[in-house]
Amino acid sequence: MGVMGIPENPLIVGQGLAGTCLAWEFLRRGVPFRIADHGEGGSTRVAAGLINPITGKNFEPSWRITEFYPQAIAFYRFLEKEFSENLWHPLPVLRVASSQKEWAKISAKLDLPEVKRWLSADPPAKPAGGFPGCVELSGGGWLDTRKFLHLSRVRFHELGLWGDTGTPRIRCEGAAGLITGSMGGHRCAKGEILTVRADWPETHIRIGAGGWLVPIGGACFRVGSTYDWDKLDETATTAGLEHITAIATKLGGPDFGVITHVAGIRPILRRSQPLVGRDASGDWVFNGLGSKGALYAPGMASILAGWILDGIRPATEFVFPDALS
Ligand SMILES: Cc1cc2nc3c(=O)[nH]c(=O)nc-3n(C[C@H](O)[C@H](O)[C@H](O)COP(=O)(O)OP(=O)(O)OC[C@H]3O[C@@H](n4cnc5c(N)ncnc54)[C@H](O)[C@@H]3O)c2cc1C
Repeated sequence: MGVMGIPENPLIVGQGLAGTCLAWEFLRRGVPFRIADHGEGGSTRVAAGLINPITGKNFEPSWRITEFYPQAIAFYRFLEKEFSENLWHPLPVLRVASSQKEWAKISAKLDLPEVKRWLSADPPAKPAGGFPGCVELSGGGWLDTRKFLHLSRVRFHELGLWGDTGTPRIRCEGAAGLITGSMGGHRCAKGEILTVRADWPETHIRIGAGGWLVPIGGACFRVGSTYDWDKLDETATTAGLEHITAIATKLGGPDFGVITHVAGIRPILRRSQPLVGRDASGDWVFNGLGSKGALYAPGMASILAGWILDGIRPATEFVFPDALS
């Protein structure tokens, strides 16, 4: 197989976004492997699957987006063909500014080439919903993460790839793997999310007011989110409900019904910049997808497969600082 002297049957531990993307990378390369998961998809199952090219309070392009974005979209389109199912739902993003100060910050960046490339050709004529300003971005959308996990898991079972034996182990364990501390310090953050039903426009993803609102069809929307770095459990809370209700009210309006309210833990190492490498026992590790797993998982899976199978060590910024070489 690869120059790393890799035995016949590597084992992927964890079938969230990271493990599933790596498994597909192995499948595409014709590499035999096994994949196992003791749960049902960690934070991937909870995630909104949103990809938003320009993010955060500072309205900045996501880290290395020009490399990872085309890979991610091509990968989800490839899987859609495999399954004859829709997984990636492109939608324009309406980024609203909640204050004049925020709008000034956004406006000041609109002419930067790295921002301008994501601006829609026809920006909205006037601000939406009483916000001081808004801008429309292209390139956004959401991945149906649960469908992605489910269809992939069924396929892995059909192909006889499901099982928990094999070496080396490739740990794609999400937050559970980081919380043990085996990869050093982490910044994992619990997040809560609502699915609501409402009579709101379904043409745009709305981002601003400290959150987001994603139309998922059938008058349903996913709304989020919260960040809690202290209480790393998967329990939905009253405080979370209140926080997200306020976001939904600002971005959509006051009239909606809550369908589900769930929580998950984002695996965070260095903001949303994932890392790969090997731990002290020699296991491979792929983790740290943060809040942006949908954007980074396919590209990072390809980088890791290149390292494991072809011995191509990635650039230092992709590698755990004390990884075995
Ligand atoms: C509320 C919320 C909203 C989010 N929204 C978005 C969003 O809109 N867009 C986006 O890109 N990202 C979003 N994220 C982040 C996204 O969920 C993560 O980036 C991504 O899903 C992490 O994938 P992962 O495979 O690393 O981890 P996980 O999805 O947690 O998967 C890890 C898997 O490993 C399994 N596992 C762990 N240990 C073991 C073991 N020892 N043996 C066997 N199995 C094991 C677990 O059961 C789990 O299935 C959100 C997260 C939260 C919490």
